[in-house]
Order: sequence, then structure tokens, then C-alpha cells
Amino acid sequence: MAVSPEVITEGTIRVLDHGFVRLDEAMASDLSVVNAARVSFARRKDAMDESDEGLIRFLMRERHETPFEHNAFRFHVRCPIFVAREWFRHRIGSFNEFSMRYARATDEFYVPEPEDVRSQVGKPGSYSFETVSSELAESTREELQAVYDAAYAAYERLVEQGVARELARCVLPVGAYTEFYWTVNARSLMNFVSLRAAETAQREIRRYADAVEHFFAEAMPVTFDAFSQYRRT
Ligand SMILES: Cc1cc2nc3c(=O)[nH]c(=O)nc-3n(C[C@H](O)[C@H](O)[C@H](O)COP(=O)(O)OP(=O)(O)OC[C@H]3O[C@@H](n4cnc5c(N)ncnc54)[C@H](O)[C@@H]3O)c2cc1C
Repeated sequence: MAVSPEVITEGTIRVLDHGFVRLDEAMASDLSVVNAARVSFARRKDAMDESDEGLIRFLMRERHETPFEHNAFRFHVRCPIFVAREWFRHRIGSFNEFSMRYARATDEFYVPEPEDVRSQVGKPGSYSFETVSSELAESTREELQAVYDAAYAAYERLVEQGVARELARCVLPVGAYTEFYWTVNARSLMNFVSLRAAETAQREIRRYADAVEHFFAEAMPVTFDAFSQYRRT
């Protein structure tokens, strides 16, 4: 794993300043992969053995990926809107999101830690992100906070004057936090982790992908090892 996520309570990992990934429920095990594959031969196992571990490695290596679909992880996620936009591009899975039409918007916004304020150097496809001076890091944080404060004050003014929440939300920036549930099977989850825990992914979604990876590794350790060895890019 790229980083060691901070587990705040059982089943919940804190991410960024106000976010988290919580594993709401999982129906997931290495055995589900083995039995999905062995049904071809009308065989079923109740416990894993060494040959089953070998089978999982074989399936992963040869990209026989449908046996990895017979499981489900349901995550509850709190993240900035710009992270959610990247996340929702992953079509194989189900999402339900907090509604800023029906509920009042949160007043929590993402302000990066000073060490996460970075510059972008190079060309598209091969950017590198470099640390900036402490003065620039601090002034960036202050600029963001000032915009957030002004935006949220405008939002509240509009709502108090009777403007519909669905319209008032237009003033809110993509650093505002949102929440959603995401249900996904291991095959699609591995694709997500491959793409979003990679060095090429944006740092903020990488932190979330690291948390997702942590829960995946706990629930399906043999599959996770095979994924790390053969599948992850
Ligand atoms: C570093 C990075 C940069 C990115 N930059 C951009 C960007 O600038 N602009 C942008 O628009 N997106 C961008 N994306 C999003 C990217 O193009 C994908 O939409 C996103 O990563 C989801 O990947 P996916 O399609 O594999 O996942 P899913 O949608 O979960 O699909 C999983 C798999 O199912 C199959 N599949 C799903 N739908 C179809 C389909 N319609 N036809 C055929 N096969 C299908 C594919 O095999 C796919 O890999 C970026 C992603 C990353 C990781």
C-alpha cells in the first residue's frame, strides 16, 4: 500500500481534513472467488487451502476476471466534490449521493495541508508536482479559506432570502464536501485502485484509493496479493 491510512474507528479511515472512507458492509471473501471458478467442475469448498490460493493467482494472472465479481463492498465516503467527480467516472458500481437540492449544503471545505500545496511542472501526461515555499503554501490556504467563507456566506444569504437550495448551491466551489454510498465488486474495485492509487492519479483521490485498498486487502487477502503481483498497473 502507498500509505498507511489512519483508522479512526473500526471500519472508518479518516481522509483529508474532513473526509473519511467507511466500510458500511461487505459480502466478500477469497472463497467466493474460488467457488465461482470451481462451479465449472461442479465443485464447492467450505475453506481455503493452498490449491485455492494457486487458483486465485492463476485466475488473476490469466485475466479470468468474472470470478472476482461475486462479492460486494458498500462504502460510505465523504470527500470534496472534485474527488467525487473523478470517482463517479467509474461506471461499474452503484452510487447514491447527498443532495444539495433537498438538504442544506455543508459548510466544510477542503483546505490542503501546507505540504500538499504543490506546483505543477512539465507537460500533460508527464507532470511532476513539487513542493512550494512555506509562504506560498500558507497564502494558498488563506486564499482558499477566504473564497470558501465568501461563497458560503452568499449561499446562506440566498437561502435565507428564499432562493431554492438547488439554485443557491451554484455559488459553492468544488472544494465543498459531499457524501455518497458506493457499492462495488472486487473486479471493479481493483480497476479503481489500479488507476486511482497510482502515482499518476491526483494526490487527493489517491488518499481515498489507499483507504479503499486497505479494506479490500483485509476482506480478500489472497486476492489482494494476486492483484498486487499480476494485475495492478
Ligand atoms: C490519471 C487519470 C486521469 C484522467 N483524466 C481524465 C480526463 O482528463 N478526462 C476524462 O474525461 N476522464 C479522465 N479520467 C477518467 C478515465 O478516462 C476513466 O473514465 C476512469 O478512470 C474510469 O475508468 P474505467 O472506465 O476503467 O472504469 P469503469 O467505468 O468502472 O469501467 C470498468 C471497465 O469496464 C469496461 N467498460 C465500462 N464501460 C464501458 C463501455 N462503455 N464500453 C466498453 N467497456 C466499458 C472497461 O473495461 C473499463 O475499464 C482520468 C483517469 C485517471 C486515472
